Amino acid sequence: MSDINQLLMNMLSGQSSAEELLSGSDLDPVSRMILSQAFTGNNQETDEDNIDSETGDDTLSRRSRAIQRLRTRFAKMQRQIEDLQQQLEEMEIRNDELAAALGACYLCWGEDPECPECQGKGQPGSIEPEWELFREWVLPAIKAVQVARSQRWKRQGHTVQPIQPQTEEP
Ligand SMILES: [Zn+2]
Repeated sequence: MSDINQLLMNMLSGQSSAEELLSGSDLDPVSRMILSQAFTGNNQETDEDNIDSETGDDTLSRRSRAIQRLRTRFAKMQRQIEDLQQQLEEMEIRNDELAAALGACYLCWGEDPECPECQGKGQPGSIEPEWELFREWVLPAIKAVQVARSQRWKRQGHTVQPIQPQTEEP
């Protein structure tokens, strides 16, 4: 984000225009897209604001309003990025816990032959699951499946009960 900050500061201080900012060669594609979206819908006003500032107070006032709008949009985008980063971190924690609960590779779950962690051999059950996480995330699902199967069996007239899962560490 520091690159965007620097470029935006250049623009807000009048050292470069929006076009120069967007054509900056060291801007990564995501930043370019975000900035491009920020300017979309503001083109007409931006054109007006590009009139030489010496033409009068009205233009200056339009320029400062445009800058204020840009700052507001930028702050909103920063909040959205922070929200997304937080969601991503939560999803990564959930992914790692589930992978450990199932004994799978936390990077690719055994689906990537190029995986540096498992070379594609990390499908669920490829390593010993972590018991506490298994009991937290997987066992309730197994019990639910067994209850459902048991009820189905009873409806079909069977009397044999399915084997109950162990609830303590073996
Ligand atoms: Zn892997």
